[in-house]
Amino acid sequence: MIDQTIKLGDVVWQANFASCAEVWLTCPCCNGAKEVTVILGDGRHVHTECKWCQSGFDLPRGVVKVYQPKARTQSLMISGIIKTETPKGEVWSFQSLDDQLNHVIRKAEELFFTEAEALVQAQKEATTYLQRNLAETQPKQEHYKSYAWNAIYHLEAAERAQRDLAHHQAKAHICQERSKKKETQ
Ligand SMILES: [Zn+2]
Repeated sequence: MIDQTIKLGDVVWQANFASCAEVWLTCPCCNGAKEVTVILGDGRHVHTECKWCQSGFDLPRGVVKVYQPKARTQSLMISGIIKTETPKGEVWSFQSLDDQLNHVIRKAEELFFTEAEALVQAQKEATTYLQRNLAETQPKQEHYKSYAWNAIYHLEAAERAQRDLAHHQAKAHICQERSKKKETQ
């Protein structure tokens, strides 16, 4: 962190990071199996495809993507020093000239005397960003509930279809029998 000993024209360092590399992790919902198992109240196990690692209408992939941030530093030139009186005392902020030649006001704690200090801060920020990204890859409770709903829905639909099939096959069989009888008469 810099202080008011900084002079106009001094070069300071800012912590920065970019989320560049794509990293694929095993899906935390299906553990890479691409399907999940729902156990119904009567003990039946229903397998259904994992929706967490599925993108749109594609098949589940068993992996999820996160962006691996890379810690960076940026040098800036001090172009203004601003002192503000507040009820809690003096607050210093610094105007700096960035790559796009914009004068941006930054707090003292955002700027550093050395690149090494800025890099430590950048690594801290990158770690926080990655942890937030990883937390977002974890399915929420509502997501798991949707599996139970899907499993029951598809199971009931399959059972209904089986009953309908048996019913229609029986009817079709009767019709066939009748037409055969007619032919032999
Ligand atoms: Zn999955």
